[in-house]
Amino acid sequence: MIRTHRAGALRAADAGSTVVLAGWVAHRRDHGGVAFLDLRDASGLAQVVVRDEAVAHGLRNEYCLRVTGRVQVRPEGNANPNLATGEIEVIATEVVVLSEAGPLPFPIDDHGAGVSEEARLKYRYLDLRRTKMAENMRLRSRVTHVIREVMESEDFLDVETPYLTRSTPEGARDFLVPVRLQPGHWYALPQSPQLFKQLLMVAGLERYYQIARCFRDEDFRADRQPEFTQLDVEMSFCTQADVRAVTEKVLRAVWSRVLGYRIGEIPQMAWHEAERRFGSDKPDLRFGCELVDLTSYFADTEFRVFQAEHVGAVVMPGGAAQTRRELDNWQDWAKSRGAMGLAYVTVGQDGTPAGVAKNLSEAESGGLVAAVGAQPGDCIFLGAGERTATLQLLGAARLEIGRRCALIDTSRWEFVWIVDAPMFERTGHGGWGPVHHPFTSPTPEYVDTFDTDPEHALSDAYDIVLNGTEIGGGSIRIHRSDVQSRVFEFIGLTKDQAEDQFGFLLEAFAFGPPPHGGIALGLDRLCALLAGADSIRDVIAFPKTASGGDPLTGAPSPITPAQRKEAGIDAPPA
Ligand code: ASP
Repeated sequence: MIRTHRAGALRAADAGSTVVLAGWVAHRRDHGGVAFLDLRDASGLAQVVVRDEAVAHGLRNEYCLRVTGRVQVRPEGNANPNLATGEIEVIATEVVVLSEAGPLPFPIDDHGAGVSEEARLKYRYLDLRRTKMAENMRLRSRVTHVIREVMESEDFLDVETPYLTRSTPEGARDFLVPVRLQPGHWYALPQSPQLFKQLLMVAGLERYYQIARCFRDEDFRADRQPEFTQLDVEMSFCTQADVRAVTEKVLRAVWSRVLGYRIGEIPQMAWHEAERRFGSDKPDLRFGCELVDLTSYFADTEFRVFQAEHVGAVVMPGGAAQTRRELDNWQDWAKSRGAMGLAYVTVGQDGTPAGVAKNLSEAESGGLVAAVGAQPGDCIFLGAGERTATLQLLGAARLEIGRRCALIDTSRWEFVWIVDAPMFERTGHGGWGPVHHPFTSPTPEYVDTFDTDPEHALSDAYDIVLNGTEIGGGSIRIHRSDVQSRVFEFIGLTKDQAEDQFGFLLEAFAFGPPPHGGIALGLDRLCALLAGADSIRDVIAFPKTASGGDPLTGAPSPITPAQRKEAGIDAPPA
């Protein structure tokens, strides 16, 4: 054993014992012949006193040391109440340098101010030495531990599914892997284990889970990673309520054991209601400011802009106090989101409206303040146009109002299930695509009509949303091959394409498939929320940058012509 004790575990009760510690110099202070080192290991910090100047002199930050010494209670008045080991110090009798550290690319402290993401990722092993980052790694490990305990106790089987496989459509592009032994043939990395977990249900395993890596080659968006982790779950002979109950069990256990927080009852909200009230399928329920539908209020308006499919409003409390410039900035904000603009009406202290109000009839402006429930001093933002786009714009304005007016109570955890989502949405090409994925079942009422009345068909799907972030989603699956074939056909796959891509699934459904359903929870996002991290990168040990690169290893990197040839990349399919 190199050491006898862990630095962060020492307490006053250890006073008098001789200990051997090993760790890194977090900090060194010289005090006329005496040096104080903060020695850090994975358990925390302890203060080491080095009295031999010759020894202390050579020690630099992040040197890796072994220190032998005697624990003593710190002299009166020198205790540090902010440190778990703050009552003691270790008087060194021997210091061995296990390895030296060169000049550091950035200081290893928790401020991290001014350190670029690029530098943090290039020297990730140093970044992870920071207390907060190390805590995030521990939190993540605790979360997966609790998840496994719950799933095992509920009789779920942990099954690994392949990473080298065929495409699984989740709406993104595949990462492709050439196959040397079959030039011209490629594996796809799975976008999710979706098809395999369904096959495990056909196989009769009944309850499956996996903490699975997924790969999606998507355009770069803030806080997306090309590979990410999800808790993937599938069960047979279940209803939505069964899947939701298991999911809630996991969430309750994680929140209670990681944060000591008791999650209350989790409400359900229909997708259309979420869209109508919050302009979003992932509503943040930590604050009000719900959207107001003014379409019928303006049904007979002369004002051209409001002669639209949808007219709606959202109220900014106290928003009338904004400067002209601030109000105009909202126009730029709306335009940056691709909207035409955002009209506004300010409400004077006497309750009378000003702003766009001059374009409205007397009756329209007279009743507006009451119609939206605004107070004197508020600002009413109005949007008009195509329904979905207008609701989304107002929903985004609502979030912006929540942030700017500090209306969001960040100490709250507001979970909500979003149910009854539409099964299909229009694609850019005039066709229809699945809102979830093509294996999602319609609700029983729409099994016969989803392809003749796609506008109204609802899916037997459920998303779990926390504080305005979607943390998971799943569905009851189609388990009849005729229904599955109709969905493929409806979303525009020819018979041959369906057969080529999913023939194995349709074939499996010919052998007594059980009704089944499941869910996946995004583990990275979940951990980021639990850790209070701004980015999922802070809870992933070795993430990619926002542009998909890894500054540490230099991946992705070019390959040599020889590798290219060997991998058969340019070979035509046999
Ligand atoms: N496969 C889905 C996903 O990865 C989740 C599910 O339907 O279980 O988003």
